Amino acid sequence: MSRRENETAFNDYHSPAFDLACAQFEQTAELLDLPQDVRERTKVPKRSIVVSVPVRMDDGRVHTFAGYRVQHHLSLGPTKGGLRYHPDVTLGEVAALAMWMSWKCALVNLPYGGAKGGVNCNPLRMSRQELERLTRRFTQEILPIIGPQTDIMAPDMGTNEQTMAWIYDTYSNHAGYAVPGIVTGKPVSLGGSLGRKEATGRGVFFCVLQLLERLGAKLEGLRVVVQGFGNVGSVAAALLADAGARIIGISDVSGGFFNSKGLDVQSMREYVGTHPTLEGYPEGERITNKELLELECDVLIPAALERQITAENAPNLRCRILAEAANGPTTIEADATLGEREILIIPDILCNAGGVVVSYFEWVQDSMQFFWTEAEVNEKLRAIMERAFSDVWTYSREHLVSTRMAAQCIAVRKVADAKRMRGLFP
Ligand code: NAD
Repeated sequence: MSRRENETAFNDYHSPAFDLACAQFEQTAELLDLPQDVRERTKVPKRSIVVSVPVRMDDGRVHTFAGYRVQHHLSLGPTKGGLRYHPDVTLGEVAALAMWMSWKCALVNLPYGGAKGGVNCNPLRMSRQELERLTRRFTQEILPIIGPQTDIMAPDMGTNEQTMAWIYDTYSNHAGYAVPGIVTGKPVSLGGSLGRKEATGRGVFFCVLQLLERLGAKLEGLRVVVQGFGNVGSVAAALLADAGARIIGISDVSGGFFNSKGLDVQSMREYVGTHPTLEGYPEGERITNKELLELECDVLIPAALERQITAENAPNLRCRILAEAANGPTTIEADATLGEREILIIPDILCNAGGVVVSYFEWVQDSMQFFWTEAEVNEKLRAIMERAFSDVWTYSREHLVSTRMAAQCIAVRKVADAKRMRGLFP
């Protein structure tokens, strides 16, 4: 079969996010000089499932949602990855996120392949009861391919620890006994790990500290802009602010806020604790998301959706460091422009790996039924993030490649080697 025919065989994944993940993979495979047959089976997801999820809404009507779960590879252990609730979710986007999870897990040396799930819905417009019914039914539909030793879910955009608790309960009802290892990012009272909720944002914080150290720069007074004020963005902003940085711009789906003297991150966190979004927050100058990304700053942290930094806005970015807290926030074209402009990038698979690292800690603690203190969790997380950062930095300097290519090369090499050693089965 020709390469072209084979590519059309996987057309179901075709989407802007999957095409971006594939283009990044191809660049990496070229650098690593991976043989064609290894390339294809390392890139294409191992399996995926598309399910319809009928849910009775509060008004009595039944709405059928589309749900997806993609497992990218099983060569290093079970698959692991978040579950996203968002109106733009597609199979292709979920497949891209699963692929990025694979590289992330390999980069930080976790015994997992990547996976991702998603339901095409708008959680902001659904009641708690509707979300519970949706989550339980989705879990029921994908039961045949998930399990604590096969595929483990976690929160992502639009889902949270409550979502994980419903999945845990639904799966355990089916099994007949409690199976806490089916999800991570669950409430601490149900076997979740201390420090998990903050882990991704904390990992972003550790990465920024590492880069500043390499540059001989200080955190005090550093001007930071954060796009997305959910779990990841709000924690990263809070930790940086507490350490002395000035958070001059913050946005969420409702738009952006700017204050050159620094926004009050704590009061914004309190506001979103009692409101669905930042809409109506009384302080700071209102700006658009587009304006926010182009603010002059030292560190720009995209912590919302994919493909936010594009060919269009990359020439206008006025940051020194781009810390990619979101998955896939930068397009291939934008990446080239940022490279030419010598903007330093902490690539997503490194920058946001803190979440899956502490998810792994949670899974380990659940299997031992022996739980660590928050200080222990944070210290182990710091050690892993610092080592991964150092690996990427060193590879980038030794091979004269970008930090993104360095991170991808380390990760893809590891997965490709595992596939070569094991054979065709996983
Ligand atoms: P979340 O749902 O808690 O928050 C998402 C935030 O983005 C919200 O503030 C939302 O209003 C905002 N947003 C949505 N659309 C936007 C838009 N068009 N412009 C600006 N802001 C917008 O999600 P999260 O868990 O914080 O995840 C954010 C990103 O981090 C995602 O890309 C996710 O895949 C990635 N990530 C999350 C984790 C984790 O542990 N939660 C781990 C790794 C990576």
